[in-house]
Amino acid sequence: MLTEILSRETCAKCRICCTFDKYDIWETPVITKELKEKIEKDFSDVKFIEKGHSYLFRMENADENGIFYCPVLTEKGCALGDEKPFDCRIWPFRIMNFNGTRVISLSPVCESVFSLPVKKIRETAEKLSDTIFSYADKNPDIVKPYDESYPIIISERNSK
Ligand code: SF4
Repeated sequence: MLTEILSRETCAKCRICCTFDKYDIWETPVITKELKEKIEKDFSDVKFIEKGHSYLFRMENADENGIFYCPVLTEKGCALGDEKPFDCRIWPFRIMNFNGTRVISLSPVCESVFSLPVKKIRETAEKLSDTIFSYADKNPDIVKPYDESYPIIISERNSK
């Protein structure tokens, strides 16, 4: 979804968004019931925890550095391909609740996008805003509490 500012090749070399530590474990992707059922068919050992009407991967067995790897991350990348969770498709954008207003924010963890000109990032977020806010209307579990380390790119009030 973000290939205009983040190439597949760049993602394939990095994968930082598919690993988590104790500080960003809250970032694990929100998974719909439909996607959970599909993953369960293909990956019988993957476990989930509930989040509202949705699910998160249960992250188990951190490595010696305290890093958890997404259970569907393989040597070749995400095993879900184009069916990866919406959170992963819009990464490094996030939709958050800032004092009652939904905002599209940017994760500082993705150095590749974070280093781009703000104008380019904002243009991309604007193009995606209808898609992101509409998805959040149907799947409100995807809206995360605001984290002050994530700069706000678009607020819902001024997204049109
Ligand atoms: S679902 Fe796929 S893209 Fe998302 S965190 Fe896991 S491996 Fe990465």
